[in-house]
Amino acid sequence: MTHIGASAFSDVNQKVFQAGDILNLKPGVLAALTSCEREVVISIPLRRNSDVEVLTGYRVQHSSARGPRKGGIRFHQDVDLDDVRALASLMTWKTALIDVPFGGAKGGVAVNPSTLTTIEKEEVIRRWTRSLVHVLGHHRDIPAPDMGTDSQTMAWLMDEFHRLEGFQPACVTGKPVELFGAHGREEATGRGVAMIAAETLKQHEVKVKGATVVIQGFGNVGRYAALVCQELGMKVIAISDVTGGIVDKKGIDVKAIFHHKSLNDVESDERIGPAEVLEMSCDLLIPAALGGVINSSNAANINADFIVEGANQPITFEADQELRAQGVVIVPDILANSGGVMGSYFEWTQNIQEFSWPIEKFRRELDARMEKAFANVLKVSRKHSVDMRTAAFVVSVERVARAFELRGSLV
Ligand code: NAD
Repeated sequence: MTHIGASAFSDVNQKVFQAGDILNLKPGVLAALTSCEREVVISIPLRRNSDVEVLTGYRVQHSSARGPRKGGIRFHQDVDLDDVRALASLMTWKTALIDVPFGGAKGGVAVNPSTLTTIEKEEVIRRWTRSLVHVLGHHRDIPAPDMGTDSQTMAWLMDEFHRLEGFQPACVTGKPVELFGAHGREEATGRGVAMIAAETLKQHEVKVKGATVVIQGFGNVGRYAALVCQELGMKVIAISDVTGGIVDKKGIDVKAIFHHKSLNDVESDERIGPAEVLEMSCDLLIPAALGGVINSSNAANINADFIVEGANQPITFEADQELRAQGVVIVPDILANSGGVMGSYFEWTQNIQEFSWPIEKFRRELDARMEKAFANVLKVSRKHSVDMRTAAFVVSVERVARAFELRGSLV
């Protein structure tokens, strides 16, 4: 197998090469699938505190083999080009895995969003959009929210795009429901994570009712994953966010705390650190915050039988190997959190058709398609006797490679 050095992007490419070996792909095709089609780096001058601060922004388009590129925009102080490349390529594999007609992309701005005022945040996303409008559009590249951005950020993006290019609500997904968003999109990622978690437990003959769950992250993904896990009968015993975490072995009442902005405001008899939560004993661990949080420094201390990846790349390549050797079952990000881009696909199609679905239809479609993707990955993992992550990459790499060859861009 081709050797690659350690970085977030090379961690993803390791899996692509591994799938390529299983599928017997040509080296040239693999070289194309492990490169990004386009990378744009911009500077965003922002007027702050009577001076100007220059932020760095990114849009990386990994692949358009299967359709317009699709992927979120992250506002976080640690965002860099390698990170965005990795996340863009994960989008390619995710959209192929769930079989929606998109490629992969990702964007970001290196800034701590909690230090931005509302007006500054609006200015940053408007400038990001102005600088990148030539590579965006509903049939080119369609952004969505990610860490540090939300439906309001997408509303500003849509408005800026409208001023420059005319009315095109399908140019971005994850918009507010009142502004061409889809009923169900906001909860879609977390809901999908919880549905996949339940399927995983059932497959391993573990009772869903009463299964203990620990979640890192109480943002869009973690919050809804917690809520739906509770609705499905699981017991959420700990949740953390950047401020720290809360523990209740009898089960946290997720509904009661759902609308708290931060867990710091929630009263709790027992508290835990933001990362410490990962090492708690439980049936199911859902990392739903940052990438790389489970790595060689803490893999040996993980005390869960199952890990369902709500976040993108929460487990490093080395930690993944170590955990599997310990017998931990891992459901990979490109399957587990694909409900988000599935929901974005529903929003995009509704915008293009100028028609909207009731939330019941959205949920029905989402649940059915997530179950189908899960069953397919399971089937392929049994066929090749490989873990779920390798199987997921085999399915998606085969689909993208086939589209790439059929298009006639074969080297
Ligand atoms: P968000 O900004 O809404 O929430 C992030 C959460 O993580 C917050 O609760 C924050 O306090 C917490 N957090 C940040 N740093 C932390 C730390 N050091 N320790 C513990 N908690 C910390 O982001 P989100 O949209 O929920 O995204 C979370 C993850 O899920 C990211 O990896 C993202 O790429 C991935 N994801 C998101 C979507 C989506 O639709 N939003 C879809 C697929 C994947």
